[in-house]
Amino acid sequence: MMKSVLITGASRGIGAAAARLFSEKGWRVIINYNRSETEALSLAAELGAEAIHADISKSDEVNAMAAAAGSVDVLVNNAGICGFHMLDAMSDEDWDRIMSINLTGVFYCTRAFLPQMIRRKGGAIVNISSMWGICGAACEAAYSASKAGVIGLTKALAKELGPSGIRVNCVAPGAINTDMNKMLTLEARNALCEETPLGRLGTPEEIARAIYFLSDTDSFITGQVISPNGGLVI
Ligand code: NAP
Repeated sequence: MMKSVLITGASRGIGAAAARLFSEKGWRVIINYNRSETEALSLAAELGAEAIHADISKSDEVNAMAAAAGSVDVLVNNAGICGFHMLDAMSDEDWDRIMSINLTGVFYCTRAFLPQMIRRKGGAIVNISSMWGICGAACEAAYSASKAGVIGLTKALAKELGPSGIRVNCVAPGAINTDMNKMLTLEARNALCEETPLGRLGTPEEIARAIYFLSDTDSFITGQVISPNGGLVI
């Protein structure tokens, strides 16, 4: 039977690359989007996929999305935002915005899709963290904390859901060539490449392959973090 996956934040970047890969592999793909409706609908049309709008930081929208999507074998919690602030200049709103999407959004989506996985005693959840969630980044304290939270959530849920046959794993990418890094100056980009043993930024397709690898609903892998980062964080 055709397997199904819902990918949050699949209108662009890593999520869109993952949607393409799952679709190539013959999966039913559901693309979640928030602001980028045109991109999401055009990708869905290209892939013969479904697209569902939901701001993942709003639990009512997430619950409505889960009801519309129905049963899925795999949930990929990919949607996220970044933010650059010195901590002493960070407002309550800046902090809350990053946490509400990057961490609370993962909680809302996981909670909404879990009942059907528990009923079927199977499924896989792949959470997208960041290498900064492992080692921390200056001027990105909220982002780093939210992504460290995603790793903690992954490990706790792997223990909680293993007996129900559900795998929960995490991909913690290094610097990847997407819109998220568009604001980097050429100098900052070059510095990142120089610091990276493999000497370049990663591609969304490389992260999609790691996500796909962890989407095996029969594997012995759970509670693990894979960090495709070109060797920057080892
Ligand atoms: P991106 O190109 O900026 O795309 C972000 C995606 O998240 C978009 O599809 C966006 O959808 C979605 N999104 C944002 N807020 C949302 C919300 N409230 N509800 C639903 N969707 C929302 O970023 P990316 O590089 O592909 O990043 C994807 C994930 O990888 C993120 O979790 C990011 O933290 C993580 N990551 C990225 C890098 C990197 O270097 N790029 C490194 C490590 C980890 P709309 O446009 O439709 O709003």
